[in-house]
Amino acid sequence: MDTTPGPAFETRAIHAGQDPDPVTGSVVPAVHLATTFRQPTVGGEPKYEYARSGNPSRASLEEQMASLEGAGYAYAFASGLAAEDAALRALVSPGDHLILPLDAYGGTFRLVESVHAPTGIAATTVDIGDLHALDAAWRDETRLVWVETPSNPSLSIIDIAATAAFVHGRQARLVVDNTFATPYLQSPLALGADVVVHSSTKYLGGHSDVVGGLVALDDHDTAARIAFLQNATGAVPGPWDCFLIQRGVKTLALRMERHCANAGAVAAFLESHDKVGTTYYPGLDTHPGHAVAERQMRGYGGIVSFTHAGGEADALAMVARTRLFTLAESLGAVESLIEHPGRMTHAVLAQSALAVDPSLVRLSVGIENIDDLLTDLDQALRS
Ligand code: PLP
Repeated sequence: MDTTPGPAFETRAIHAGQDPDPVTGSVVPAVHLATTFRQPTVGGEPKYEYARSGNPSRASLEEQMASLEGAGYAYAFASGLAAEDAALRALVSPGDHLILPLDAYGGTFRLVESVHAPTGIAATTVDIGDLHALDAAWRDETRLVWVETPSNPSLSIIDIAATAAFVHGRQARLVVDNTFATPYLQSPLALGADVVVHSSTKYLGGHSDVVGGLVALDDHDTAARIAFLQNATGAVPGPWDCFLIQRGVKTLALRMERHCANAGAVAAFLESHDKVGTTYYPGLDTHPGHAVAERQMRGYGGIVSFTHAGGEADALAMVARTRLFTLAESLGAVESLIEHPGRMTHAVLAQSALAVDPSLVRLSVGIENIDDLLTDLDQALRS
């Protein structure tokens, strides 16, 4: 999936935006804590003035990420939702309509429903994988389609190229949340998307120790609007957060290879387990999105979901019994996590038409030894 000419992904992850410091020779970009920068003259245009508007640690991360997403521009935010908020503000205005997937991340749904809808932006949720459903939901005012692929927590796959062609045929734009895939596994802009958003809290940071978000895109005018919003609304990450995310991204390729290998083994194990109902993993050839995932991804990612054959009570008991898989929200870090979406990450959707199956369990498969992980899952399913 690495379509950009020049150095390969792994090389750019370590070098893009990270030249040795010209003054000190430091091989690692410094963490610039300064909130303000000396100005040579009044009214000049120094590169940095005030840290909210821009600072070297953030600029270094943004250059690294623009390179990895194959984007002209990337902007770092204080969280994934702050990045999503900026993308929404830049792409839709009061009177516009946008379309979200049925299984959008709950926080995205809440942001649209509770923050943007009251300003006069209409939203509809549909199964975006079905272009007939997308067509049926379309309005004259539709300006934006929002896609998450693979989705959270059901791991459904959307064909980015087909959706982009459909959306562009109607003069609207396509946003792809690339959090689950990461730019190592999937390049949405190369497939035709207009904007990529990330919760860099997940695989980009990769160690469960920093919250962050990112927007990457090519269009100059929209990029200028995002840059304006980054400064005007001020939801910026601190320099230390930028350093941690940048450090995580340096090992992204290695980590994703192991996440994919471990998750593939976990999915195969679950699929043949008698206590498991359905296993959701795009790498399984039984998965309805497998063929599209094979085409548009470099690997199938590290998240596996499954229904417990015993229903909600057994699912709740099982997630409390694992020893290596820690019961916690979030995903995408080196350690394995387990959670119950219906009562945890997606509880905000309970009682709505978008509520998730109560017997569903989501695993974020880490990079530990695979035999240890399978032993842990087996004892938790059996006891
Ligand atoms: N997008 C996806 C797919 C997510 O899973 C999450 C958080 O779980 C977000 C966006 C929001 O990111 P953050 O928690 O960094 O604000």
